[in-house]
Amino acid sequence: MRITLCGAAGEVTGSGYLVETDRARVLVDFGMFQGRRATDGHNRDLGPVDPERLDAVVVTHAHLDHTGRLPLLVARGFRGPVFATPATREFGALILADSAEIQEGDAKRLSIEARRAGRRPVEPLYTRADAERVAPLVRHVGYEERREVAPGVSARLFEAGHILGSASVEMRAGGKTVVFSGDIGPKGAPFLRDPVLPPRGDVVFLESTYGDRDHRSLDATVAELHGILDRAVRERCVVLIPSFAIGRAQQVLFHIAELVRGGSLPDFPIFLDSPMAIDATALYSRHKELFDAEARSLARRGQFKEDLKGLRFLSTADESRRLNDLDGPAVVIAGSGMCNGGRILHHLKHHLWREETVVVFVGYQGEGTLGHALVKGAPHVAILGHRVRVAARIHTLGGFSAHAGKTELLDWADAAIGAGTRVVLTHGEDKPRAALADAIRERFRVDALLPLRGDTVEP
Ligand SMILES: [Zn+2]
Repeated sequence: MRITLCGAAGEVTGSGYLVETDRARVLVDFGMFQGRRATDGHNRDLGPVDPERLDAVVVTHAHLDHTGRLPLLVARGFRGPVFATPATREFGALILADSAEIQEGDAKRLSIEARRAGRRPVEPLYTRADAERVAPLVRHVGYEERREVAPGVSARLFEAGHILGSASVEMRAGGKTVVFSGDIGPKGAPFLRDPVLPPRGDVVFLESTYGDRDHRSLDATVAELHGILDRAVRERCVVLIPSFAIGRAQQVLFHIAELVRGGSLPDFPIFLDSPMAIDATALYSRHKELFDAEARSLARRGQFKEDLKGLRFLSTADESRRLNDLDGPAVVIAGSGMCNGGRILHHLKHHLWREETVVVFVGYQGEGTLGHALVKGAPHVAILGHRVRVAARIHTLGGFSAHAGKTELLDWADAAIGAGTRVVLTHGEDKPRAALADAIRERFRVDALLPLRGDTVEP
């Protein structure tokens, strides 16, 4: 057996592992490259993957950096099964449809420029039609169910606690066991069950996103959110929360519900202003079976609706525009999470220059984004072609994360590493990946491999 890294090697995007045996070729994930260093060319290049000779794909979870290039495989001839949990299929369909829409929009815009300059129009990476052809290929796999995914290759998915439906994968072929961590969540996150510890593996691929640090505790982060919202409500402020649509938006609502339930906050208007976040929230309601015990019991007795009486879902752009002259106290949760697009932009344009506005960042802000500029304290910013003064109070809550911290990663590794295990660190920038390798050497006396894209690992 040999395993070739298609991405997420010394970087956090483009996850993909090509597993080859004498009899079969299976991909684990096939995600999009994103961020500053990702080019369109990287995404179009399938590397060692020949879609027509591929037997199957196993998907760990729905995030774009793990599923984003599946439509491209289908467009180039892949017809085999895609194994995933039911929730991953549904969240994945949402994410891929959104991605295809962005691809088509970008290509259209670039094509106008290209034609004007006498060049050929730009083809989208893939179309909505390509994205829609992925879901029918999906074969549902339940947690802890072992399935033959290709001749001589079996897989078992187990809870990763990262987003609803997320899994780690234990793959067996030719008498060897390979474990793919996928993305591992932190313990105690709302809604999600904690990650299940892995079996021992001959080869273990472990993510290293936060291999160099532990997160601030969730309790401290929620206490800070409480402080911000409590003051905002008393001062009748409009609170803008830029948020990712899947996972983070629901987590923020969970914590607000908790604070209202405990009497720490009054009832006040909350607007979820993102069609994708609204769809994702509906999927949460459909998959209560995946909730942890606390969320399941709250959901079963209708407690979230009881706590969040002021919650409104804004589907249309017109409803969203009506918030331009909104008076506080109110919370608006809108995308995108890093303010590089989406409805949050017009809310920022209309409210950022007012002193009675509060902006709360609840997720990572990539360099070069508007969110990053605001977090860094820019006095003026450009939004939708307008120069806008920043008079609002800006807060950054660093403790929400969908990823395990260093200590939790090491505890996971403890279960996976046995005598002779080859540990391979992926899905991390150089610094956290190297730090986790040091910690693994110290604790387990094992030298972890730090491969690059295109490198191959054999058990
Ligand atoms: Zn992920």
